Amino acid sequence: MNTPRFDTIECTRIRLQLNEYISGELPPEISTGVTKHLEICEPCSRELERRIQVRNSLRRAFKALPVPGSLAAKVRGQLSDPKPSFFWLHNVNRLAVALPGLAILVVAFLTTGL
Ligand SMILES: [Zn+2]
Repeated sequence: MNTPRFDTIECTRIRLQLNEYISGELPPEISTGVTKHLEICEPCSRELERRIQVRNSLRRAFKALPVPGSLAAKVRGQLSDPKPSFFWLHNVNRLAVALPGLAILVVAFLTTGL
């Protein structure tokens, strides 16, 4: 590993992307940039290793925990029945109730100059 040029702003930017980098969620061109930085920056490379160790420890710990049957069933149920993409339409009734009140306030404001 080459001697890193410790650039605080660049390192800060890279560290903000490390979790997505580990998860493989970064676009390829950004991921390549992170990889290149990690090749020359030992502090960020150590931070990457630390985060991978924490992630692995958490995975082992959570795998050891029993999941209550009711929780597992509830999660499965919600995953198989996602909300419709226009879930805000469920609030149309509330909007229909609020609009007349809002209209009265607007008319009062316009007529009285409040
Ligand atoms: Zn760095």
